[in-house]
Amino acid sequence: MRDRHSTLCSIFAFLLAVLPLTGVALAQSPQLTALKAARLIDGKSSTALDNAVVIVEGAKIKSVGPNLAIPAGAKIIDLGDSTLLPGLIDVHTHLLDEMDGTNLTLQDIEMLRIVATQSTAERALLGAKLAKEVLESGITTVRDLGNSGVNGDVALRTAIDRGWLPGPRMIVSTRALAAQGGQFGRLTPEAQPLIEQEYVTIRGPESARQAVRQALYDGANCIKVIVNGSPADVTLDELKAIVEEAHTYNRKVAAHAIGDRSTRTAVAAGVDSIEHAYTVPDDVLKAMAEKHIYLVPTDGILQTYVDMTLGTREASTQERSKLEAMYRPFVEHSRERLQRALKFGVSIAAGSDMYLSMPHLNRGQASLLLYDALAAAGMTPAQIIQAATSNAAALLGIGDRVGTLEPGKVADIIAVPGDASHSASALQHATFVMHSGALIKSQN
Ligand SMILES: [Zn+2]
Repeated sequence: MRDRHSTLCSIFAFLLAVLPLTGVALAQSPQLTALKAARLIDGKSSTALDNAVVIVEGAKIKSVGPNLAIPAGAKIIDLGDSTLLPGLIDVHTHLLDEMDGTNLTLQDIEMLRIVATQSTAERALLGAKLAKEVLESGITTVRDLGNSGVNGDVALRTAIDRGWLPGPRMIVSTRALAAQGGQFGRLTPEAQPLIEQEYVTIRGPESARQAVRQALYDGANCIKVIVNGSPADVTLDELKAIVEEAHTYNRKVAAHAIGDRSTRTAVAAGVDSIEHAYTVPDDVLKAMAEKHIYLVPTDGILQTYVDMTLGTREASTQERSKLEAMYRPFVEHSRERLQRALKFGVSIAAGSDMYLSMPHLNRGQASLLLYDALAAAGMTPAQIIQAATSNAAALLGIGDRVGTLEPGKVADIIAVPGDASHSASALQHATFVMHSGALIKSQN
């Protein structure tokens, strides 16, 4: 070993000696690219900038402005009548999970089927497929919140970071922390050991702290907690311990919470975002606004739920209206709570929670259906864009790097046809995707 060490030292000494001679070639400046489009929305302001030019140098944005002079030697990509935007961010994904949505009452059984029959390796490979679909749809960053076996999400993130496969930047939680049973429903004692393949059971505040430390050791960038369980919830003391431990290490906590009791517990414990909150009282929403806790409304429109349930099967008008009648109260109730949240000034971050197979749509396309629900609740295109870019980046704690089109930020840039400041549905049709300065898709 010593010999090898001294050989390496000699090589480094030689390189140091010759480096000044080769310095010109090594310090070659990174490729410059000039993106031109009829307009640009930077992710922060609510108005578009006309005749936009973005100069990209290597992986970073060098300058942004109207009619900027194009530096000599820059590669020019003219996107014509499109809108340039920051890469989209989905703060609630499940890239290692694909459930059959045609019988929503059997979701517990679906989870059991996946955990009992799909290895984590197999799920990570499914994640590789879905990650590519998501990136190509214009989503350049995701926060993946569990249901990925034991650390399968970390494996997928590593593979993407190392350039083994294409995919979005991933912030991952590893297994979600939960009360007894996770989200499996009632299982026999013989089947209960399977729960730990998907969730970490919390048994008091000290166990909650240990679970956070284990998650960080396993590679988690954030922590996910299922607050409302069945029959018991994660307690306030447990959740406080989780938040304190996670915040000590500068990690955010995402809380799955639905209903009066669990959303109240989540706010009292000081989590960073509340996921779903389909049912949430006014005073909890007001407290969320005061404490700057994000709402991640993982909503859908009526048609999404009906299509999901039917799968690829054709249905009669009668069957469709029956399904619509079944979902309408839930969809209207969710829309009304989002309107209340907006009224109270709660910050919204866009998270799809897409984990079901949607007929005729890939995972990226299915994830972007969320924006239809946000628009149906009255969010303006500018509000939806901010929820999916700057707000989302701030929630993830990476607002200094992504989420806006500004000099010095990472070059995660998409283009959509037409004027996205008029209709957020344009976001569902990205024709151009750049990730960290690398060209992922260009249809012009
Ligand atoms: Zn989820």
